[in-house]
Amino acid sequence: MQFLQRERAALETHLPGLDAALAAHPLERLESTPSPAIGAFRAAGGPGLLVPRALGGKGVSALEAVRVQRAVGARCPSLAVATTMHHFSVAGLVRSASPGAPEEQVLASIAADGLLLASAFAEGRAGQNILKPHITARRRGERVVLNGSKMPCSLSRSMDLLTASVLLADEDGVERLAVALVPAATPGIEVRPFWRNTVLAGAESEEVVLTEVEVDQEMVLVTEVTADAVPDDLNTAGFLWFELLLTAGYLGVASALVERALTKPGGPPQDPTGPLAEVEAAMLAVESVARAMADRLQPWDDGLLVAALMARYAAEDAIARTSRSCLAALGGMAFVGSTEGSYLASAAGALGFHPPARARMAGPLREYLDGRPLRIG
Ligand SMILES: Cc1cc2nc3c(=O)[nH]c(=O)nc-3n(C[C@H](O)[C@H](O)[C@H](O)COP(=O)(O)OP(=O)(O)OC[C@H]3O[C@@H](n4cnc5c(N)ncnc54)[C@H](O)[C@@H]3O)c2cc1C
Repeated sequence: MQFLQRERAALETHLPGLDAALAAHPLERLESTPSPAIGAFRAAGGPGLLVPRALGGKGVSALEAVRVQRAVGARCPSLAVATTMHHFSVAGLVRSASPGAPEEQVLASIAADGLLLASAFAEGRAGQNILKPHITARRRGERVVLNGSKMPCSLSRSMDLLTASVLLADEDGVERLAVALVPAATPGIEVRPFWRNTVLAGAESEEVVLTEVEVDQEMVLVTEVTADAVPDDLNTAGFLWFELLLTAGYLGVASALVERALTKPGGPPQDPTGPLAEVEAAMLAVESVARAMADRLQPWDDGLLVAALMARYAAEDAIARTSRSCLAALGGMAFVGSTEGSYLASAAGALGFHPPARARMAGPLREYLDGRPLRIG
């Protein structure tokens, strides 16, 4: 069948063997923890997907990356979520690395040694701004000391490196958002159970506690973001990658449901546009923003980030409607006979639980339309 061919071809080109390795396991096994999907991702060279070729990675474009994520989401929802966190952290390192900078060595190791990056921004408190972390960072000589807790943090049990947002009080007295890069084996890092849902359990989204964790100051990247929560260039780029990879992965999850409806035993729906049109259109919107990221004339500014957010919020609606119609098309006996359909529908719906939530962005988007800089709510 033609559906998902382009995405699976992209996955096979860049991460050979991963699709087959995932397809060899039942969905339930892939989605439980520990999941064999994470080892398969490493074995296929997944960690280096966005590392530049000059540093030993695959250096794929945003367009290819979103296609890969959709294909991954269609086989293993938890892996799509977990690797979104990895890839977006890698993209941030690529963006911030200058020639010869320590970030380049880290990127080269990620590609050569298959290192996995967890990305800890959330702190498990509803209503908290993702750009205003509570985790503290203070300077001690040439070192920076971190204290606090991050949850949920995907890949927490498999990570080699942790990227964490912290609030650094600097010499000028201003508190700035900074991103710390910490080897997972650093003393003071502890992983505690946090994720209680069986849905997306394979993503290992547990709590990571940091107690007097010391890092070199060159491993703490200070951004320009202060209390106003207006993202700087680095954060705007980070959110752009995040929203696109995330949306593509969750569209992949919904696509797994579409695929089941289109190949339903006993006869698929006569009119395929019902299950197809909305997810395909949503993916085209994601691809359109990904293509714009490769356009030299297109700045990675808040206008492009707003486009990415619109693609994501439209995908949330498309996923909700498509899931409902696919479950109906699959029918009651499929519902009774297997948890797969309801699992995929539930997992696909979790797109709405990632930052920035749509309701949070109502005010900031209104302000942006009225000519002010985009805040992340
Ligand atoms: C599968 C999965 C994996 C994850 N992995 C990671 C990870 O690896 N790293 C990480 O950092 N985070 C991760 N997260 C967490 C995620 O980043 C979010 O921070 C977290 O889910 C937000 O929780 P929340 O919806 O309760 O909070 P909020 O975003 O605060 O929202 C709570 C509710 O209040 C509403 N609301 C909040 N503020 C406003 C407002 N101003 N106006 C109107 N309504 C508002 C929201 O719409 C929502 O309904 C993951 C989440 C999921 C689902």
